[in-house]
Formats: sequence, structure tokens, C-alpha cells
Amino acid sequence: VAKRLEKFKTTIFTQMSSLAIKHGAINLGQGFPNFDGPDFVKEAAIQAIRDGKNQYARGHGIPDLNLAIAERFKKDSGLVVDPEKEVTVTCGCTEAIAATILGLINPGDEVIVFAPFYDSYEATLSMAGANIKCITLRPPEFAVPIEELKSAVSKNTRAIMINTPHNPTGKMFTREELDSIASLCIENDVLVFSDEVYDKLAFDMEHISPTSLPGMFERTVTMNSLGKTFSLTGWKIGWAIAPPHLTWGVRQAHSFLTFANSTPMQWATAEALRAPESYYVELKRDYMEKRAILVEGLESVGFKVFPSRGTYFVVVDHTPFGLENDVAFCEYLIKEVGVVAIPVSAFCLDPEDGKNLVRFTFCKDEGTLKAAVKRMKEKL
Ligand code: GLN
Repeated sequence: VAKRLEKFKTTIFTQMSSLAIKHGAINLGQGFPNFDGPDFVKEAAIQAIRDGKNQYARGHGIPDLNLAIAERFKKDSGLVVDPEKEVTVTCGCTEAIAATILGLINPGDEVIVFAPFYDSYEATLSMAGANIKCITLRPPEFAVPIEELKSAVSKNTRAIMINTPHNPTGKMFTREELDSIASLCIENDVLVFSDEVYDKLAFDMEHISPTSLPGMFERTVTMNSLGKTFSLTGWKIGWAIAPPHLTWGVRQAHSFLTFANSTPMQWATAEALRAPESYYVELKRDYMEKRAILVEGLESVGFKVFPSRGTYFVVVDHTPFGLENDVAFCEYLIKEVGVVAIPVSAFCLDPEDGKNLVRFTFCKDEGTLKAAVKRMKEKL
């Protein structure tokens, strides 16, 4: 393995999902729904395959999907973007993140991330040779420590990565936090890379795209995907929206990472993004019910549960159960209780920051969530 990747092990999600299978444990670890995406989207993919839409797509996306993404983005953020010059289709948001980082960051550039962070950020920043600076978000609110952030930003800072709603904590960045980040970025000429894959799962407050704040569009890459919103995480269709001067970098990297992505799935994604608003309302309602079941269940088991305002994750403090750290707790939970969760230290530069915390997902049917709670009540 190349030196820049030596420290990264098999991803925590892969490790935990294979342990789940090995021990017959209920998997509330890796965030993938155990129910299927909507029929009208699946039918659109089947139709596209039957219609012979099976050769390479245009590199930056089939025109109809670029258009559908721009239309959806206008509804969500109020911003009008050029589907041809400002939208790039990628292989899931993970490739959008990689293309953004590899296309816009030079070796030695400083990039600020908020820990805990989605694991690909650190690995991809390492591939780009970035100098990672980490700001820790701490329970119970996981609020942005603005003064700390201010002192971290310097003339060497090239970008700040934001993820709202936030995996793993379920935190959502508030308008005040985003305003402060925006002023810092404008003052210091810093870019924002914003991962918003859980934007349709914003429960307790309004989702705000950093790019919609005054002066921010020109310095922001906004990333999203189909997977979470349409319960089709295996389709791997994502996108990056950015002004032309940033899109240029993203597309240069994208051209040589994947060149283009699955053609029939892009046709179906265009169809998905034109779903009526009722689809989104229902999705959110369903997830709020699931959240209530899991949060109440975890509280009744005896965890300290932190508020999940968005995403399909909830983070708890496991220390009432007396295990040494989050990894030891998750091992015990799999082997002795039969439930899988994710240790939050896997999302941190310094494992100390996550050692009291574990993440559960509620993107599972009611029966599964209740069965997991039952096991924990009986055996923890
Ligand atoms: N985003 C999903 C999660 O956080 C998993 C993605 C993956 O398996 N790499 O659980």
C-alpha cells in the first residue's frame, strides 16, 4: 500500500457489516436502508436499460440529469445554476468529494475539517497531500467552536469541509454558525466543500446550504446524491454543483477518476429528482417515526442520547455500561448482545474525541429497530 494510505484500514463500515453477518447481529451500523427504493425510480432504470441507454454517458452527466439536478437545486436553495457549466455527475457523493479535493487542493494546502467526520474526508485529503486541521465538535450540541475556528484559519487555509445534516452526530449547522463560517471564508478567501447528502432528512430545523449565503456561491462546491433520499444507496449516483471556475477542477479530476457514470441509472435519477413534493414529505415523516422508535428505545435501555436533528443516525454516550471505550463497547455489543453500532472514534483524527460515543442508524424497518432495542434491554 502506498505510504499516503498506510494508516487507513478496511473502512469501519465494511468491518462492522461483515461482523454483523458473522455474528448474526442486527445491523444498526452501516447506513443503508433495509427497505427498497420507490418503484417508479426502479422502473425508470429498467426502461432505460430496455431502451438501449447502455453506452458511456457524457463525462459530466447525461444532459437530462444535469438539468433535473439544476431544477431540484433551485427548489431547494433558490439558486439558479447552469446545468451545463455548473453541475457534474459523479459516482455517489464519495466521488464528488474525491473529485473536489483532488481537483482543487494542492499538496501542502491546509483544509479544515470538523471531527467527527465521514471517514473518506481524511483518506481523500491524504491522497491529495493536504495538510488536515481538525476542529472537534463536542456533545451535547456538537456546536461549532467559532473562536477556535477563527484562530485555525490562516493565509494557508484553502478550504473548510462542512457536512450538514451531519454524519455521524445528526447535528445541523445553524444559520449563526454558517454566517460566521461564511464571513471567515470571505475574509480569508477560503473555499467551502459542502456535503449535503442528508438534506432531505432535516427534521427539527430548516436545512441551509452554505452556498446560498451572500458571497458564498462563488467559493462553494455543494455535493449531494440519490442514495439517501431515494433509499438506493447501491446506485452510486451523486453530483457536485459549483461555479464554473471550481467546476473546472472538479471535472478535471472526475474525468480521470471515473470518466462517466452508469448511463441507465442517470436516466432513472433524473426521473427520481422530478418526484412530487409529497414524496419528500412522506420520506421525512417515515424517518421521524423511525427516529422516535430508536431514540425512545435507546433511552429506555439507559443510554444518554444526543439529539438527532437530521440524517438517519443518532449518537449516544455508552459510558453508563462501563466499557473502556467506544471500540470495546461495539465489540461487546456485537458479540454479547447481537447488535451492531459504529464507534465514533472511527470518525475522528484523535480517537479520544470519540471514545465515549457510538452511532446507531435508524434507516431500518420498525421490526428491526424494535428487535435491536429488545436485545439491548435484555442483555446490556
Ligand atoms: N455513509 C454510510 C454511513 O456512514 C456508509 C458509507 C460506506 O459504507 N462507506 O454509514
